[in-house]
Amino acid sequence: MKDYVIGLDLGGTNIRAAAITKEGNILHRVKIPTGVPLGRERVIANILKVIDEIKKELKGIKLSVVGMGIPGIIFFNKGIVAQSPNFPDWIDFNLRERLNKDLDVPFYIDNDANLAAAGEGWLGAGKEFNSFCMLTLGTGVGGGIVLNKNIWRGEYGMAGELGHITIYPDGHPCNCGNRGCLEQYVSANGIVRMAEEKSQITANDIYQLAKKGNKDALEIFQKMGRILGIGIADLVNILNIELFVLGGGVADSWNYFIPSTMDEVRKRTYHITGEGVKVVKAELGDDAGIFGAAYMAMNEFKSSGVVELRS
Ligand SMILES: [Zn+2]
Repeated sequence: MKDYVIGLDLGGTNIRAAAITKEGNILHRVKIPTGVPLGRERVIANILKVIDEIKKELKGIKLSVVGMGIPGIIFFNKGIVAQSPNFPDWIDFNLRERLNKDLDVPFYIDNDANLAAAGEGWLGAGKEFNSFCMLTLGTGVGGGIVLNKNIWRGEYGMAGELGHITIYPDGHPCNCGNRGCLEQYVSANGIVRMAEEKSQITANDIYQLAKKGNKDALEIFQKMGRILGIGIADLVNILNIELFVLGGGVADSWNYFIPSTMDEVRKRTYHITGEGVKVVKAELGDDAGIFGAAYMAMNEFKSSGVVELRS
């Protein structure tokens, strides 16, 4: 019998979900408000509601497993949300155990940026590569490292925090406790702050100004691109990774920062490792996370010996 997987993306505003086949086709989508102000139990009720809605819609087809991405520090093996910027009161909360009480299929969670990388690796910009890094340049910077087709999670599930590698030793303070993190310069918030330091350019104007050739705006994107290039060059030196996938809204300003990024990567790496480095745009947009959640869940389930996956 044909079966499907549900991939969920638990955002601060919306829960987005899709029923996905093992070939990567979407059968049905659902999006509802997360309901954060109404408390944890309501958010959980909403997650269950989404799953239920999909099951009703696809009566006759078997749901095999559910995967979900959440921003923050996730202990993947145990299914615990250690902390999440969107859910401040979810501290060391065993979400998987809680949801398994109400679900009759296995349920897995992981960090949302890891899953975006998994999604791009399965069906998007990284699908032809065994190993790559993905940087999601949004309000903050999310990171995911795929090594030999697997998400590299590290000892505690916290690997791939690429937004928090240090660029300036005494730079702008970051909410992670460090100073001068990559995130402070290449995220949307970082770009706004650099713009404000330079002149009175507002956040909404800066991309438009760059488009019109405004010198200050262009310089900010060049600086941002250079800093991104320093970060990528470090990753090249550590991992000899060839592909870097950039997602998130900031990647739309591509033309204004990428020449400085590439210039910096070449300058700061060995010729042999740096020359072949490709930095490309993500291909799946907002869907990377739900595809990645589905893919992760399928793989976890497969290792328990039940679902056969396309290799
Ligand atoms: Zn940081």
